[in-house]
Amino acid sequence: MCRHLAYLGPEQSVGDLLVRGENSLLHQSFAPRDMRGGGTINADGFGVGWWGVEGFSRYRSDQPLWSDSALRETLPGIRSGAVVAAVRSATVGMPVQRTACAPFSDEVWAFSHNGVVGGWPESLGELAADMPVTDLLQLEAPTDSAALWALLRGALAEQDPEKAMISLVRAVHAVAPDSRLNLLLGNGRELWATTWYHSLSVLVDDERAIVTSEPYDDNPAWQSIPDRHFVSARPGHLTVTPLEIGSS
Ligand code: GLN
Repeated sequence: MCRHLAYLGPEQSVGDLLVRGENSLLHQSFAPRDMRGGGTINADGFGVGWWGVEGFSRYRSDQPLWSDSALRETLPGIRSGAVVAAVRSATVGMPVQRTACAPFSDEVWAFSHNGVVGGWPESLGELAADMPVTDLLQLEAPTDSAALWALLRGALAEQDPEKAMISLVRAVHAVAPDSRLNLLLGNGRELWATTWYHSLSVLVDDERAIVTSEPYDDNPAWQSIPDRHFVSARPGHLTVTPLEIGSS
């Protein structure tokens, strides 16, 4: 399954963040350590979004992270204190294309999904039926993750991130209980994430908050998040709470 990484803290090179540590996101793209049966490598593209003085910007590619020239020629020169990035392993049956790569975003939010919606697309039919038709027409890619983003974005218009994300996990779990729903959301100032089957670790101190599928180095300050939990993090602040959703 895909791997994701989000950073909040002192401004730094976006490219450096992707190659930092012996188990960097780059390393996780070809030799991830904890895929839990969800694929082998993450070679079906990648994306990275960052907040700066001009607001949110993003680069996505359908190439493996290791072979895209932006990794060495473009991203190292970009600096940001708020980044969301992901490397993708396309679920069987879903297309390999740039617009299927996280982070999905609008002007405010950046979103990544690590996992799969069981029985997609049929299983999501009922939830999708409640969405505005124009949102469905504008889906970026015919994938479960793009559909989850559209559902979440709709909810974020009315609810805070915690409520919107937990409601989404609950609703998807109800119609597709065999789903894997590791969600990651950022707005440049705070990060929110869920664990639902896949690994997640966080490192939070007074200066920075990092949320990632796998720690990128052996710093003992990394905390592994238990399965079925909700995380909210920013520099100097971390809450981890169980997701109260029935198991089946
Ligand atoms: N199911 C999603 C996709 O194919 C996410 C895949 C993953 O987490 N490996 O894009």
